[in-house]
Amino acid sequence: MSLIDKFHREIKYLRLSVTDRCDLRCFYCMPKGFDGYEEPQDWLNFDEIERIIASFTRLGVNAVRLTGGEPLVRQGLPELARRLSALPGLDDLSLSTNATRLGKHAQALTEAGIARINVSLDTVDPVKFNKITQGKLEKITQGLMAAKAAGLEPIKINMVIMKGVNDDDVEDMVDFCMEHGFTLRFIETMPMGDTGRNAVDYFISLDEIEQRLAKKYELIPAVMAGAGPARYVQVAGTELKIGFITPISQHFCDTCNRVRLSATGTLYMCLGDEHKFELRHLIRKGISDQELDQVIREAINLKPLKHEFNEKPEKVVRFMSMTGG
Ligand code: SAM
Ligand code: SF4
Repeated sequence: MSLIDKFHREIKYLRLSVTDRCDLRCFYCMPKGFDGYEEPQDWLNFDEIERIIASFTRLGVNAVRLTGGEPLVRQGLPELARRLSALPGLDDLSLSTNATRLGKHAQALTEAGIARINVSLDTVDPVKFNKITQGKLEKITQGLMAAKAAGLEPIKINMVIMKGVNDDDVEDMVDFCMEHGFTLRFIETMPMGDTGRNAVDYFISLDEIEQRLAKKYELIPAVMAGAGPARYVQVAGTELKIGFITPISQHFCDTCNRVRLSATGTLYMCLGDEHKFELRHLIRKGISDQELDQVIREAINLKPLKHEFNEKPEKVVRFMSMTGG
């Protein structure tokens, strides 16, 4: 069975936010001092999450990424990962994390069936890192080394590039990723919430970054397994692959294969739109598995054709951490 939206796109991938909380405050994502979080009684519990994901897998979704907020802030995440990775039809369970808690959890996550991880890291300069995130770089590098030691592979580093903030750190990030065998991916800033909109002032097209790198390295087209929209190149003579994620300068909505489920059970159809469907109250009212499958199949038709980040940057009021980036 498959999940197909009204524009004939097949939905194969779900990003599951397990919490809207976070232990960092990346300025483009969450406001400094923010504590307007969702209440615990509204979070989907692990049984509810498992039921919803099982429904998606019955409908043909085969890849799930755990995200947030910071997913490792949610107690018992390895236990949830273990339960989800046992679901029939789920071939690819991955994690997006800021790595602050990977030192403690990397081994348990690997054992629980997490195959690969993406880690946010915008600079390897500790002072700048603290300015961007309010956190300590040391914790992230420790987490990354623990992930490597635990055998998580590939480890992809996601770097949001901002002109005048960290665009001159690109070469250092290339060296860091080459040294440790990580994949490096650049992301354009998106106008999600007031935080994201403010960061758009630092927007820089990734074309510019690619042209700069091409002067220093020979870049050859490459492919990388995974369900994402990144375009990859490889630095000739090395193992390093570099991905470009360009939702703003070159959107990829016509091939979008994903939806997002928030920590409180809201199904968001698009990162750049408010189209959504609430699942929590239906689950708590005792909906059957068959009804749940049907409801999800109908809800998918709310998925819009494309985001309007460029035309209506004021449209999305929620921060990235609320949706599950
Ligand atoms: N806390 C985890 C992390 O940082 O990887 C997972 C959630 S975070 C919201 C997921 C991704 O969203 C991160 O790579 C982060 O850099 C990105 N992100 C957050 N706000 C953004 C924005 N306004 N524009 C572009 N990317 C953003
Ligand atoms: Fe937290 Fe990730 Fe948002 Fe940074 S990008 S504030 S780590 S949720």
